[in-house]
Amino acid sequence: MDPGAHGPLREDLLRWWEANGRHAIPWKRHGDGSRPGSGEPLDPFGIWCAEVMLQQTQLAVVLPYWRRWMAAFPDVEALAAASEHDVLMLWQGLGYYARARRLHRGARRLVGLESPAPPGTTTGDPWPRTLEGWMALPGIGRSTAASILSSAFDLPQPILDGNVQRVLARLMAHPAPPKRALSHFWQLSEAVLDPLRPRAFNQALMDLGAGVCTPRQPACNACPWHGQCAAYAAGDPGRFPVKDTPRSVPFQVIGVGVVRDAEGRVLIDQRLQEGLLGGLWEFPGGKQEPGEAIPATIQREMREELAIEVEVEEELITVEHAYSHKRLRFVVHLCRWRSGEPQPLASQQVRWVEPAELDTYPFPAANARIIAALQKRIAAG
Ligand code: SF4
Repeated sequence: MDPGAHGPLREDLLRWWEANGRHAIPWKRHGDGSRPGSGEPLDPFGIWCAEVMLQQTQLAVVLPYWRRWMAAFPDVEALAAASEHDVLMLWQGLGYYARARRLHRGARRLVGLESPAPPGTTTGDPWPRTLEGWMALPGIGRSTAASILSSAFDLPQPILDGNVQRVLARLMAHPAPPKRALSHFWQLSEAVLDPLRPRAFNQALMDLGAGVCTPRQPACNACPWHGQCAAYAAGDPGRFPVKDTPRSVPFQVIGVGVVRDAEGRVLIDQRLQEGLLGGLWEFPGGKQEPGEAIPATIQREMREELAIEVEVEEELITVEHAYSHKRLRFVVHLCRWRSGEPQPLASQQVRWVEPAELDTYPFPAANARIIAALQKRIAAG
């Protein structure tokens, strides 16, 4: 592909962006709120944290979290020095908690509290200026690394997040799903990138995908590229990007016990460090076996995971929760502790806590509704 052929595409997009882009995004501005001049660096710490938050979450949801996060951890040193408990508490509700732990670990490596330091960093300047340097940090793939480099330092790195894949797939009416033609899509992103204004161009491309070339019903009449867009010319932009046939998502029922002792304290446990929700707290429970009634599931799980006997009482709430790879139904019962000292047989630790204290522990999103139901039940007597 001849990069010179993309001059008009770049000019049209950048002109549209100057008038219509999302210019108020706080991490794309200096601390005093001003827009950076071309080439002028921005704070890599704020951009890195925002990029990781945006990996699985929409901008509108991320904004208040990012502001609270930056108020608590204004720089990489503050994040590196924080406890994991405080980091997870601030992340609570954003989901995909591994992202918070990776940011924390990354900060500790950038300031030298853990090794190895990412390649290309020095004591005076912890911030990498290369893809390899950023990709050496936990949870940073090529597109996130490129986005940080172009946003923070205005370096000419192409990006390929979901928005950009969709716009390019439509622009070219690409016949394959982007995931199956990644190297071609990287070449496209590199070919259209404006080497003289990479920060502005990449941001414009993301803003176009987020606000105009949206997944459903793209606003082609408002699009600066509609004159050059192959999917628009074909009359059916919604057909692109081409998709693979969807896989069916497994479904599981989980029996959960909110176990209380004679003083009304509640038993919670902290998950093992690995996995999607590692390190978070939860109410104990586990998968329902075929043919098993939920009270039996809960009693079995309490025995296997905590070495305690409980009496299962009435249902407190049922919560449905969908992850990208599975759907879960949590059937939650109140339980009375009968015997056995709780042991962390399948967790890091177990703890009896007052119901009012539950808000001070980081829980996965599905548990927030359980806590609310429990507190309502207690208030109702
Ligand atoms: S013309 Fe429509 S489909 Fe093509 S890039 Fe613009 S918004 Fe997307």
